[in-house]
Amino acid sequence: MTLRIGCTADDFTGGTDVAAAFRRAGLRTALVFGVPDAGTALPADCDAAVVALKSRSTPADEAVADSLAAQRWLWDKGAAQVYFKYCSTFDSTPRGNIGPVTDALLDACGAPLTLHCPASPPNGRTVYQGHLFVHDRLLSDSPLRHHPLNPMTDSALVRLLSAQTPHRVALIDWQTVRRGVEAVRDALTAHQRAGTRHVIADAVTDEDLTVLGAAALELPVVAGAAGLAEGLGHAYPTAGPVTAEPLPHTGRAAVLAGSCSARTLEQIAHFRAAGLPALHLDVLAAAAGHDVMGEALAWYDAQSPDLPVLLHASTSPEELAAVQARLGVNEAAAQVEQLLGAIASHLVDSGVRRLLVAGGETSGAVTTALGIRAVLVGDEADPGVPWTHATTKHGDLALMLKSGNFGAPDLFTRALDVHEAA
Ligand code: ADP
Repeated sequence: MTLRIGCTADDFTGGTDVAAAFRRAGLRTALVFGVPDAGTALPADCDAAVVALKSRSTPADEAVADSLAAQRWLWDKGAAQVYFKYCSTFDSTPRGNIGPVTDALLDACGAPLTLHCPASPPNGRTVYQGHLFVHDRLLSDSPLRHHPLNPMTDSALVRLLSAQTPHRVALIDWQTVRRGVEAVRDALTAHQRAGTRHVIADAVTDEDLTVLGAAALELPVVAGAAGLAEGLGHAYPTAGPVTAEPLPHTGRAAVLAGSCSARTLEQIAHFRAAGLPALHLDVLAAAAGHDVMGEALAWYDAQSPDLPVLLHASTSPEELAAVQARLGVNEAAAQVEQLLGAIASHLVDSGVRRLLVAGGETSGAVTTALGIRAVLVGDEADPGVPWTHATTKHGDLALMLKSGNFGAPDLFTRALDVHEAA
């Protein structure tokens, strides 16, 4: 069986988010980390495959090259349609990368136009009259105005995207979307005749995204956030609901955290408050040459095998600032990634079969260290946070990769079913 739909996501945790959306829509979905090559295997019988790239803030030519390589690989696996997943807050700069990547994907397949919609109503991202809202405010009045990498000071999507492409950009307004699938298809045809290449659509509710998905089913390239991906997924006939993947339930359980986001810090506090074993990894000591990993592994060996353990570099904003001031941001990040990657590898070697990882960059370091290129997406523990089924040299691994800010405060204990384990 071949793929029905392929997807490139412009960052790692965006990949997890969109993969979970396809799965919610009833598609058996694989998630692939980084640009795949001829040797990258897909789990059997997938309907959808998401290639998670790091192309949001890289130079546009690199983002284009990686996205095209992913598109070719997805075509090769049988996908007739490729979804380009970007952030629901349209994170980009005046040079890209949303415009250049979408244009390259369209050029590669000779498609005249594409549909965009970054709305994600469950997360408060809606588009009305072409303006992107974050909850009750325009994007440009939201905290995203001060984003450290991509400050978003305009909310008008036609204007934002026009700055990133030489082609014509236009809008399908909410009044048209409310009239249904045929009305949107007619509007797309009219825009194509008028020479428009990028059509932005309004969407305020999930139903709007279902209408857009059905109208966009025949387009070779569609773009937006996880919401439109789910709408598109619903438009594909499936063999029925995807059954839960059989995930390992035996073997030890562990959490590795490198995110310093407020939500991850709450999740760590909740885990500790439940009386479960947790160890803070001293990044400055590791940088100074102390055997922090050796000590962590000795600590791990001394814990009860029946309880999940947590090892975290994650720390308070104050300590994070102090460590970054001492080591520099890049060196601090390299230390954390090296430490957590090596610990992950040792834990799986010594019998961990359920592993939860907190942090986008941290997840990248852990999957790389474990040599995991592709996973099958399973049930979500929280919105956008699915369990996945990975295969390692030691056999099956239940792996959860979460973006720092995702998941409820009790995610770690709930996902690892602590009551049963304890
Ligand atoms: P998120 O998803 O919250 O952004 P990431 O894993 O992507 O999480 O990023 C967390 C960042 O914080 C990484 O760059 C990591 O290196 C850094 N970090 C984590 N713990 C520490 C620490 N104790 N000292 C310095 N930097 C740290």
